[in-house]
Amino acid sequence: RAKSEGRNVYRFFEPGMDAMVRARRALETDLEAALRRQEFELDFQPIMNIASSEIVGAEALMRWHSPARGLVPPDDFIPVAEEIGLIVPLGEWALRNACTVAAGWPDGLRIAVNVSAVQIKSGTFARSVISALAFSGVPADRLELEITETVLMDESDTVLKTLSQLRDLGIRIALDDFGIGYSSLSYLRRFPVDKIKIDRSFIRDIDKRDTAAIVRTVIGLGAQLGITVTAEGVETEAQLEFLSREGCVEAQGYLIGAPSKAADINPLPKSRAAIRQSG
Ligand code: C2E
Ligand code: MG
Ligand code: MG
Ligand code: MG
Repeated sequence: RAKSEGRNVYRFFEPGMDAMVRARRALETDLEAALRRQEFELDFQPIMNIASSEIVGAEALMRWHSPARGLVPPDDFIPVAEEIGLIVPLGEWALRNACTVAAGWPDGLRIAVNVSAVQIKSGTFARSVISALAFSGVPADRLELEITETVLMDESDTVLKTLSQLRDLGIRIALDDFGIGYSSLSYLRRFPVDKIKIDRSFIRDIDKRDTAAIVRTVIGLGAQLGITVTAEGVETEAQLEFLSREGCVEAQGYLIGAPSKAADINPLPKSRAAIRQSG
């Protein structure tokens, strides 16, 4: 009896599993071709200094315009690109492209690029960062690399060595999605980052007492450690007011500006007032 039940279960799952495997293979094949076919683009989202209301830089965010699938969000394709190793050439493309665009911006505006653990572990990472800077002419201190905890979770010291080497050149390291991982605080001791980006889930709930206390504490932590704190996902004036009152250094989110192509063609507006006028 158990045997036949087992067989039924097997039969029930088999076609579905097969379809999942095939869909996944198709996605991998499409992704591999996408780089050759130049289906990737970067959007740029402005980052504002809260005290001065000035735009101080922008984050490059990858977009995949697939002719067959439409616009695929990075959360759907970056993990797959990481698994098949495609993130290494794809990430190199993003770095080079982002730096090239940023080279046309007014002096001082910084460019932030997301990098994954797989890239940093590849062994060619430091070289490709240095080459992107040389190729574009962007000075090292205008480049910011956004990493997540998974990067610092790596036990090997190749990762920490690579990051220190880049930091010694003047490149800034930002810890992205701060607060949602397993032990964000312990990673601050493992590697001296230049910036903390508070995850947008905290900003979304900033009107709740407990979340407000956490955000306030992270802002204080940044001040104590001499680390710039950036709030992600700022969507309302009330959120920005709270952050301003608490002394948060930078803000990023739809309120300040959505990711867009505009930066591709025009230099970013210098201030929020300029953005409002043009919008
Ligand atoms: P992230 O680095 O934390 O980027 C911020 C995400 O929040 C972006 O999503 C952005 O569009 C979104 N966002 C910005 N402001 C707001 C807001 O006010 N409200 C809300 N609800 N969302 C906002 P996106 O572009 O879908 O990117 C998702 C993630 O994909 C990124 O999270 C990053 O981890 C990854 N990613 C994007 N581009 C790259 C890349 O070139 N390389 C690597 N390795 N990862 C990338
Ligand atoms: Mg980021
Ligand atoms: Mg983030
Ligand atoms: Mg994220």
